[in-house]
Amino acid sequence: MTAIDKKTSMVEILGKFVDLVSKELPDDVMAKLTELREQETKPLAKVIYDCMFDNMDKAKKLSRPTCQDTGVIQYFVRSGAKFPYLGQLREILKEATIKATKSAPLRLNAVEVFDEINTGTNVGTNVPYIEWEIVDDSSNVEIEIYQAGGGCSLPGRSIVLPPLAGYEGAMKFVFDTIVDWGINACPPLVVGVGIGTCSNSSAVLSKRAMLRPIGTSHPHPKAAAMEISIQEGLNAIGLGPQGISGQNTVMAVHVEGMAHHPSVLGVGVTVGCWANRHGMIRFDKELNYEIISHKGAHL
Ligand code: SF4
Repeated sequence: MTAIDKKTSMVEILGKFVDLVSKELPDDVMAKLTELREQETKPLAKVIYDCMFDNMDKAKKLSRPTCQDTGVIQYFVRSGAKFPYLGQLREILKEATIKATKSAPLRLNAVEVFDEINTGTNVGTNVPYIEWEIVDDSSNVEIEIYQAGGGCSLPGRSIVLPPLAGYEGAMKFVFDTIVDWGINACPPLVVGVGIGTCSNSSAVLSKRAMLRPIGTSHPHPKAAAMEISIQEGLNAIGLGPQGISGQNTVMAVHVEGMAHHPSVLGVGVTVGCWANRHGMIRFDKELNYEIISHKGAHL
């Protein structure tokens, strides 16, 4: 295969994967929703879970997106320094987005800044959003795709607190945020919390936390305890599925952190909805690929 053929092949695979992510929820979300559905005792909340599963079933059978808001397409790239198509990857991700927009089809959610005109392709200035990490010297790349809806993860928040606010202040900010607009984000939610040193690092960490597979805990015991504590507190609020009250408000709470300046404590909150459409795919240098998030899926 020539280099052009390889590029076309990667566009093809990624386009199909973005299409699939819009229609089939990943294994971690499916497993958690199944668990929460079984735990639910309130009749109306049970009906909501039944509707969600009926919705997911129909989306798969009829090949239609799980939700009408297919979001802004975001990519989180973790690459080895020797992945041979790294220099072309930005263009490949743009083309894959356009391809999936037509095939799925995805809602047209890219409005060009300042002109306020919909591009009609889900591609515009700095959209799709791409975050890059060079993680090692290998020739592999992992790409996480996220479809960020206008009611859930796009309206995240971050703040920089004074040092005396401490972790209690960070937790208060999380609770205030969820009580304020969590209901708009179609619970049960995946809540990502970032503890950083400024508003942007905290926001980015909160997104990464939200994308961590459900069922994982932070390796630091204090962060893991914070995850449990926030989760229990948010469930006690009782928003329930779609905010109509019920046993569980959240599917998971994930916390990520970084060292911070002694005079500040940044906090970011990003929230994923029940239709938390994320997908992870790994390529090697020959473009052999493995789908990590949706076991048994075929493109
Ligand atoms: S919050 Fe999620 S499920 Fe609700 S409308 Fe937005 S994308 Fe769809």
